[in-house]
Amino acid sequence: MQVELIAITRYLRGNGTPEELLEHAGRVCYRSESRGEPGRFLMARVREGHESLIEHASATFEISGVSRACTHQLVRHRIASYSQESQRYVDLSNPEYVIPPSVANDPEAMQVWREATEGLAEAYRRLRERGIFKEDARFLLPNATATRIVVTMNFRSWRHFIKERALNRAAQWEIREVANRILDILYEQAPSVFEDLIRERAAQS
Ligand SMILES: Cc1cc2nc3c(=O)[nH]c(=O)nc-3n(C[C@H](O)[C@H](O)[C@H](O)COP(=O)(O)OP(=O)(O)OC[C@H]3O[C@@H](n4cnc5c(N)ncnc54)[C@H](O)[C@@H]3O)c2cc1C
Repeated sequence: MQVELIAITRYLRGNGTPEELLEHAGRVCYRSESRGEPGRFLMARVREGHESLIEHASATFEISGVSRACTHQLVRHRIASYSQESQRYVDLSNPEYVIPPSVANDPEAMQVWREATEGLAEAYRRLRERGIFKEDARFLLPNATATRIVVTMNFRSWRHFIKERALNRAAQWEIREVANRILDILYEQAPSVFEDLIRERAAQS
């Protein structure tokens, strides 16, 4: 799995950081002057639930080497924008798969897995050879098929996503890994907006 930050909001004043933009947006509400320490100001706003101001900053991630099962969960988050590799237009005669560790660590389960996925891949190729369009041959592709997706959310949505998918012990392991990596990256970029989530995660472990 690769989770790469490929874009983030840049403020056109000061040092250009998203935190400076968010502090500015927040201070407009109170007609107060920036004291050059966006961290403390933003942490206080997030803590009191004044979260609309963090919608002014967004981050875009490219996520690849994850399963369709994972991205199906991801795209349920509606306050976001997505662009995903298409199974209608991309030929998947030689697909890559994400193998769950529970299967990968069990030789007999791996044997079942190989038989099933090799059979499906062979059937896909035979349909394509008969002239069946990719958009119809793809009906044979399993949830394990690896995919690539670009996703943009504002910081408020990312916080919601991280709470549901990283901090929630009931979340499924693959999307949990994605969400944890995103939390680590966003914390580096805007520590004051995400530090409470880092602390919550540390308290869980
Ligand atoms: C552990 C787990 C198990 C799950 N199991 C299933 C399952 O079995 N089946 C299934 O279908 N889904 C399942 N889901 C998906 C879940 O129900 C949500 O669809 C998904 O997590 C997206 O969350 P969201 O709607 O809060 O996020 P977003 O779509 O990003 O929305 C963010 C927030 O905006 C608000 N909002 C957005 N749209 C509306 C609206 N139309 N009306 C009111 N408020 C809105 C809500 O406050 C929402 O929390 C599961 C999720 C988790 C974490």
